[in-house]
Amino acid sequence: MIIVKTREEIELMRQSALVVSKTLGMLAKEVKAGVTTMQLDKLAEDFIREQGAVPGFLGLYDCPSTLLCSVNEAVVHGLPTNIPLKDGDIVSIDCGALMNGFYGDHAYTFEIGDVAPETKKLIQVTKESLYVGIEQFKIGNRVGDVGYAIQQYCEAHGYGVVRELVGHGIGRKMHEDPEMPNYGRRGRGKKFIEGMVVAIEPMINGGTHKVKQLKDGWTIVTQDGKPSVHFEHDIAIIDGKPEILSTFAYVHEALGIESDEEDRFRKEALVL
Ligand code: MG
Ligand code: MG
Repeated sequence: MIIVKTREEIELMRQSALVVSKTLGMLAKEVKAGVTTMQLDKLAEDFIREQGAVPGFLGLYDCPSTLLCSVNEAVVHGLPTNIPLKDGDIVSIDCGALMNGFYGDHAYTFEIGDVAPETKKLIQVTKESLYVGIEQFKIGNRVGDVGYAIQQYCEAHGYGVVRELVGHGIGRKMHEDPEMPNYGRRGRGKKFIEGMVVAIEPMINGGTHKVKQLKDGWTIVTQDGKPSVHFEHDIAIIDGKPEILSTFAYVHEALGIESDEEDRFRKEALVL
């Protein structure tokens, strides 16, 4: 059952999403060669608590960490480790926060130093596919329209779209209905309705779409060892149209990236 949110609840959800956005922005300055994902995890936990929120993943489904940090061929659900990041790595950092009874859940893939051009391209296309998907999240469309758009966009570049893991509704629970696959058929699945809030999160592989789980019971990696990229936003339907609640603006500011990619999905300009 899809749980729709009131305008007031959506504003609370925006605050939860922004806690995560700010955390990713803080981490953007710390993600570099020599740093471990365990160190990033500690920074993130402290930062989230300082903002009066609690880590959204920690303890959920017995998750042992605040962040899920997926390096190179890891797709998602990578547990923080003591292995230092090195030049040429990429790391997808997924973070959740709970505040005022609502969750935020949002992810960004970072580059460490000099990343291979083909990996940079995968990052760029995956990020673009997130907005291609968001564009379809509006009244008149269905779940399959978002998945179809993301899948077509990424497969046209020869990439693999992960099937086993999907986006989701979000609210007072981290995972609510509906599931939001990054693949699908146009016009299929549940209808979108005013006030629904979802996390759209393409997980795109440089090669095969096939994945496997490591023995740690968490980390999902590509079967062919090629890199995988993950971006995620939280989005509400307001006045029939998608409104992004989270933002990469803090990350972009930290990394010196100029971007207007989110602007058309926001009624009012964001004040950092
Ligand atoms: Mg997430
Ligand atoms: Mg999610």
